[in-house]
Amino acid sequence: MSRLIHISTMTRKDPFMKKVNLCLLSAVMLLMGSCIQKPKSSPPSALFQISTIDALLAGCYDGVMPIRDLHRYGNFGIGTYEKADGEMIMLNDTIYQIKADGTARTSQLPDSTPFATVIRFHPDTAFTGDPRIALDSLRQLITRQFPNLNLVVAVKISGRFERMKTRSVPPQEKPYRPLNEVVATQQKIRDSSDISGTVVGFYLPAFVKGINVPGYHLHFISDDRKTGGHLFECILVEGTIEWQICHQLDLMLPNEKSAFGLVDFTKDRSGDLQKVIKLKK
Ligand SMILES: [Zn+2]
Repeated sequence: MSRLIHISTMTRKDPFMKKVNLCLLSAVMLLMGSCIQKPKSSPPSALFQISTIDALLAGCYDGVMPIRDLHRYGNFGIGTYEKADGEMIMLNDTIYQIKADGTARTSQLPDSTPFATVIRFHPDTAFTGDPRIALDSLRQLITRQFPNLNLVVAVKISGRFERMKTRSVPPQEKPYRPLNEVVATQQKIRDSSDISGTVVGFYLPAFVKGINVPGYHLHFISDDRKTGGHLFECILVEGTIEWQICHQLDLMLPNEKSAFGLVDFTKDRSGDLQKVIKLKK
């Protein structure tokens, strides 16, 4: 058993959420033969997540946490906004919203999120990427650095990109349609060339299926903070890659009065997820 799962109860101060801690024993600790580690409250390497990817895919776009509260749990991450209004990226403690037209703006106080994943980013490994490398090869290059594939890893790529293909989506109105339908009909794709910026995101193992995105999920923001989005393709020409292994997942779930309670989680949404995460060829 490589995972310790701890479930804690909702605090009275938090009207939005019930809190579930999924505390993962690090692979490194297992290799060292260490005994089971008791869950702690949000250690520096904890990945904090609001709601689940399957709830988002099912159309749970109501905000369940004020965006500003994400600062309590991390300074680095990705997600989306209420009504699925654009892509969210958090970098160096600032949270940006990438609107459907690809323009970025700093988050405003009333903003809230239905789904987000953040961490306190303290990279323990950094290396410089090979010159001129496309995203598929870049992901393989990064993955080859990992001790194994059963790790939760935050990834940051800073550099200059010869090409960058990103997308965002416009805000939705109720009744909300499933996210794969929204993406299929309404996503706006943006092509940029010779652009400097930062890719922010995560590599997650297959066991997060239904909860988050197995594999890589990356967003981009330009250095001038004017554009970005969900990353589809890029060619990195020079840059630095940093990553951090996380040993704990903190998962907050929407309360019982939200649409979350009506989602059929027995449905396998893997196919829908691929349509949302990847560019249709
Ligand atoms: Zn995304």
